[in-house]
Amino acid sequence: MTEPQREWFEKDYYKVLGVAEGASAKEITKAYRKLARELHPDANPGDTAAEERFKAVSAAYDVIGDDEKRKAYDEVRRMGPTAGMFGGAGPSAGGFNVGFDDIGDLLGGLFGRGGGGRSGGRQQQASRAQQGADLETELSLDFTDAVNGLETEIHLTSEATCSTCNGVGSAPGSAPTKCGVCDGSGMQNDNQGFFSMSRPCGQCGGRGSLITDPCRTCQGSGGEVRARDVKVRIPAGVKTGQRIRLKGRGGPGRFGGQPGDLFVKVRVKDHPLFGRQGRDLTLEVPITFPEAVLGADISVPTLGGEMVKMRIPAGTTSGRTFRLRGKGGDTGDLLVTATVLIPDQLSDEQRAAVESFAAASPGSPRAHLEV
Ligand SMILES: [Zn+2]
Ligand SMILES: [Zn+2]
Repeated sequence: MTEPQREWFEKDYYKVLGVAEGASAKEITKAYRKLARELHPDANPGDTAAEERFKAVSAAYDVIGDDEKRKAYDEVRRMGPTAGMFGGAGPSAGGFNVGFDDIGDLLGGLFGRGGGGRSGGRQQQASRAQQGADLETELSLDFTDAVNGLETEIHLTSEATCSTCNGVGSAPGSAPTKCGVCDGSGMQNDNQGFFSMSRPCGQCGGRGSLITDPCRTCQGSGGEVRARDVKVRIPAGVKTGQRIRLKGRGGPGRFGGQPGDLFVKVRVKDHPLFGRQGRDLTLEVPITFPEAVLGADISVPTLGGEMVKMRIPAGTTSGRTFRLRGKGGDTGDLLVTATVLIPDQLSDEQRAAVESFAAASPGSPRAHLEV
């Protein structure tokens, strides 16, 4: 057998396609076509989860959609548990019982733990596809930008795809060469008597190719640390501590792996006048004692700079809040809280006026407290 059977142990292709193990070839093809249509990258642009599933579905159909391969696949999966190599209900149940001294090596290779160590000369061992790292950066925003949202650029210095070799790892003008040990398949066969199993090639680490002339910039790693600008759309209404995820803008994937994500942690600067409450803005407005008592038409500022008129009704108590609909930036209302100012220094004229007000106000507001 020449197929990469490591995958066969790990993956239930019937489950991937959502068919029964005894499904007919026709049923398998039908299930595959339906999933392939749904998950096709053209139908799901930018959706890497769909893309991964599309690949998994294609890989599954590649095996169980082919009579010959399906027979071999079924046999490998059947023989695993019954050949005395594995304990439990089979490989998918996890927890292997190893019955041979050299099987540890074999399994190490099967699950990618085996050490290569056979590379020689200037050749470097490539490894299998690795997902890039997730990165986090901070962005300080003006109050107005946080309320209204904006599109901006973040400057950051981080691991990125090597600009010299474009992530390939080979020096410009050279290309990775096909691995001679596995003939480019990435797998090597081990004959264990009752059936043969394959494991990732020890020379190329399962990649199928070798970097013979490593790129000078990245030493063959395909990545480098460099400054870059990343466009980010800040949605209206973000708050301090919120994280915005930029899919695929993190560290570069290696050897065909997906890039990681970039998380932008937002810090919003305070505003000298406005505060926030949910999606609304808050504003404290001082009013005079006569305005509170008699009522008044006043003007208050909005975040955009424009002044809006509002009515303070007669008899407004200190701390009362008024809602100005649609005046709280792009996202909400403006909540205006009136604070009644009590003068602590009075002119003679003011004192006389207050005294005559008192004389004209008989009775005590505390009458109900008297026992
Ligand atoms: Zn490079
Ligand atoms: Zn190889």
